[in-house]
Amino acid sequence: MNFPILPARFYGQSLKDIHEELEKKIEEAKKRHPVVYFEKPRSILQPSRYKEEFYKQNEALLNAATYSQDDDILCCFVFQDENEKRRFIVTYPEDFWSDTENTPLERRVFYEVIPEHTPCFLYYDLEFETEINPEKNGIQMTSTLIDITILYIAKFWDYHCKRDIVINLDSSRPGKFSKHLIFSTRDVAFENNYHVGSLVKLISSDIVKYLSHEDTNNEILAKFDKAKIEDLFVETNKGKKFFVDLNVYTKNRHFRVYKATKWGKNSHLVLAEDCEYRWNLKSKSKEMEIFLNSLISYIPRKKRLKLLSFDENHKAQIQCFSHNEATRLLKSFIQKEYPPSPYPVLDKFMSEYVKPGKIRDTKHMASQKIIVFEVVGNRFCRNINRWHKSNNIYYLVDLIQKKLYQKCHDEDCSSFISSAIELPEQVTFYFEDETDSVFKSLTAE
Ligand SMILES: [Zn+2]
Repeated sequence: MNFPILPARFYGQSLKDIHEELEKKIEEAKKRHPVVYFEKPRSILQPSRYKEEFYKQNEALLNAATYSQDDDILCCFVFQDENEKRRFIVTYPEDFWSDTENTPLERRVFYEVIPEHTPCFLYYDLEFETEINPEKNGIQMTSTLIDITILYIAKFWDYHCKRDIVINLDSSRPGKFSKHLIFSTRDVAFENNYHVGSLVKLISSDIVKYLSHEDTNNEILAKFDKAKIEDLFVETNKGKKFFVDLNVYTKNRHFRVYKATKWGKNSHLVLAEDCEYRWNLKSKSKEMEIFLNSLISYIPRKKRLKLLSFDENHKAQIQCFSHNEATRLLKSFIQKEYPPSPYPVLDKFMSEYVKPGKIRDTKHMASQKIIVFEVVGNRFCRNINRWHKSNNIYYLVDLIQKKLYQKCHDEDCSSFISSAIELPEQVTFYFEDETDSVFKSLTAE
């Protein structure tokens, strides 16, 4: 179940008025610019379009992992609609950009899901309150941080990158300095965002030790003017703090994408003036290039990909990426093993029957002689004779009648049950015991 987050709870009472004002503006804007999803012509080399919506993140991630191909990577995006409801969209990133680039600014509340256990680029979320830090020069601080990070990567993996691989996006607004940095190291990525977090946390703790004279022998930090390093700490209402947010390296993290804003904040991530990234001058659409290259977990060419790992013990390793291994690992984390029904032949039949979907779960209601098969990845409902947009379907196997019925999680279909579907004899052959036991209990009475 998904409960919409109430605006007052989400923003705090003080922001409620701003939110309501925005809601009004959005309603007006919607009347002026209805959102149009348009089909763009595709070249024969591009994969065909793919777009699926989900209310549940796990289903979306599983879908993206299942249907991604070697070089055709599906990504999972989150958007918050006007009712504050979160939806997960699985699609090709190019299509996501084309579909959303004309969305009015105030409605661009879009995030990338950085899937757990998936390769990703190093990223930073930088922020501080400018009012209580009037002396701070955010651009200078960002520059120092980039230089320190480049030296740490060189030290641990002997991989030397330059400042021109860093995409620098800004969403500062009055009172707040805010940036995203993405180290877009094309053929080199981190094993997953936990490994990125380990490195960033080490850099942070090294800086603290260095400044507190606990460890003054740090060769990297010693290369910098000490004042510049001290400068990376900002005032907050909870005391001095590193201006890097260390809490963004968590499971299935949502990270705002290029040109997106938080609800009601009107602070869109735009290309920062101090961004030194070297863009592809031949690219047809620079906007799309910025969007694609600034995604954290979208790594389209994995054939030559090298993975950097950095565990909690700060052991640094570098290895080649293996697609099969990565997909297996990812799926095993997303897809919890569902309990098999008592009939392996039936399970096998159902797995084939629901294709292109998969069985997500089974429930054996022994007293009613019914087995429920929950389906993901195939939402074709016989009630409406087409796919549902976001609700899943399920099947009931009646072990006594030896028949199959489709039902549906969509509210509009709550009373619907399909007409009976015959099960093949090779499958029902194994149900004999069930009928026998019912028959026996009936005759006993
Ligand atoms: Zn339905």
